[in-house]
Amino acid sequence: MDPAFSAETRHADLEAMAAGPLDLLVIGGGITGAGIARDAARRGIRTALLEGGDFASGTSSRSTRLVHGGLRYLEHGWLRLVFEASRERRILLRIAPHLVRPMAFLFPVHAGARVGRARLAAGLWLYDLLSAFRNVHVHRTLSRRAVRKTEPQLRSKGLLGGAVYYDACCDDARLVLANVRAAHRAGALVASYAAVRSFEKAAGQLRGSVVDDLVDGRQLTVRAHVTVNATGPWADAIRQMDEPGAEPVLRPTKGVHVAVPHARVGNTGALTMTSPIDGRVMFVLPWDDVTVIGTTDTDYDGDPGAVGPTADDITYLLRSANALFPDARLAPADVIAAWAGLRPLLRDGGQAATAAVPREHRILESASGLLTITGGKLTTYRSMAAELVDLVAMRLHRLDGRSLAGRAPTADEPLPGGEVADLELLVRELVKERLSEAAARHLVATYGSEAMAVANLAVRDSLLAEPLASGMPVLRAEVVHQARREMALSVSDVMMRRTHLFRQHPGQGTEVSPVVAGLLARELGWDAAREAASLAGYLAEVQRMRQALTPPPAS
Ligand SMILES: Cc1cc2nc3c(=O)[nH]c(=O)nc-3n(C[C@H](O)[C@H](O)[C@H](O)COP(=O)(O)OP(=O)(O)OC[C@H]3O[C@@H](n4cnc5c(N)ncnc54)[C@H](O)[C@@H]3O)c2cc1C
Repeated sequence: MDPAFSAETRHADLEAMAAGPLDLLVIGGGITGAGIARDAARRGIRTALLEGGDFASGTSSRSTRLVHGGLRYLEHGWLRLVFEASRERRILLRIAPHLVRPMAFLFPVHAGARVGRARLAAGLWLYDLLSAFRNVHVHRTLSRRAVRKTEPQLRSKGLLGGAVYYDACCDDARLVLANVRAAHRAGALVASYAAVRSFEKAAGQLRGSVVDDLVDGRQLTVRAHVTVNATGPWADAIRQMDEPGAEPVLRPTKGVHVAVPHARVGNTGALTMTSPIDGRVMFVLPWDDVTVIGTTDTDYDGDPGAVGPTADDITYLLRSANALFPDARLAPADVIAAWAGLRPLLRDGGQAATAAVPREHRILESASGLLTITGGKLTTYRSMAAELVDLVAMRLHRLDGRSLAGRAPTADEPLPGGEVADLELLVRELVKERLSEAAARHLVATYGSEAMAVANLAVRDSLLAEPLASGMPVLRAEVVHQARREMALSVSDVMMRRTHLFRQHPGQGTEVSPVVAGLLARELGWDAAREAASLAGYLAEVQRMRQALTPPPAS
């Protein structure tokens, strides 16, 4: 059985962080910080990871969920990034096969589109070349008829043909969680809802971080030889905490997605398209019973914690999708959920269009020694982490002469749940445990080799075997598992990041959220007030999201 990863381990880890000096403190539990903590702990570096909210509550649960080479980047000549991302795609498909799955994308071409057939064909050859022809499959071009057959609901007027190419889709928040848990397994001390508020220095060098424990309402100081700022869109705020007046390095851009009922769009698979409004590359993606359309790309300079979709963002996405699927006639009332995230992109010094802002990452070192890593992609997090931890290892070597031999085998070791050679075999084993095939498939896709642990909870307690919400295969047992093994500490943690109820369930599963609160209360020993507060916290998130969907009253 996998070690616990829960409110209890969180408490113990915070005590241990406060007690002793560490080698490395990583601030930020998105994909970047999670990858760094896993890599560092695996090299034997005494590591702590602090996340101010829930793991992946920032950008890393609001992505398009693609593990991709980045076809679009070819237009900007970012060949090195495509090469690196293609390699990382191959690695992630191997180490987390349950969370990262191959996906075919149809790229249709209509008359007058910004990307014509010849340009698309040339791009796709280059795309396959940059993955050393080791992508899931090589692309193929399609005639107009073949495109019509593949996607019958697609606008036929002006359709010239298209192509199918391959990338991968993933569960972004669970990929973060898998990395955080891998870090914990390798010995890292880990806590969510623990926010760094200020720094302590000695002779101008950063020595400690003052941390608010947002669960127990106390403050502690964590001392470490090296501190890494992996806070994505918050990176400049942390840099300015270290060096008041530090010049910002970020140019955050906002990306919005909407989820609509799949039946309304009628797409049979994933599509890459150019928006007829402004020619930007966008995606139409099948996520179970919903179709997700995204994304926008606009400059944003507000509070990263307050980013949200606007009515204009939603109109843009729906109009773009309607142009491609004219029978869908999508209107704001059809939107099940909408959400926004911030790309922590780097300022390029110029006024380039948002889509042309480089997606490369950068590592900066301040006078006090704070290492900041920002930019990059979900897809490339593992190699970014290895590069950053090389620097940490060098610093530690300079400090006390220790030798941290070589890089960690993060490309070869499966992530938690990824220790599985045959996912279908696992599905069949779960069906033998009297689970429905839909439930078995869902558990395997969510937990991989750990699916049996969830199934066992359901087998032992028939109440836990019940589906949580109608129309989705999520089981009550998952909430218990998530509290014990995935550090779920609130109703929102379950509904928004460990399951997909917030984004994919019509009504955001609000009617079952009291059941989730009740199960968590039993697991976490909450009193009635704490249970009610956690439930209210989730309902407030739902309310905030729905406000964005409600058109303002006509004046
Ligand atoms: C709309 C959109 C779509 C995208 N699609 C894709 C895609 O399909 N594929 C892809 O590869 N990439 C994609 N990306 C890019 C990718 O999502 C990001 O590069 C990546 O998630 C950034 O991760 P991060 O860990 O750096 O930042 P974050 O995920 O934002 O993590 C930073 C964390 O730091 C925490 N934090 C902040 N301040 C503090 C503090 N004081 N103390 C403790 N913790 C703190 C925050 O709570 C947050 O959780 C997309 C991005 C967006 C916005």
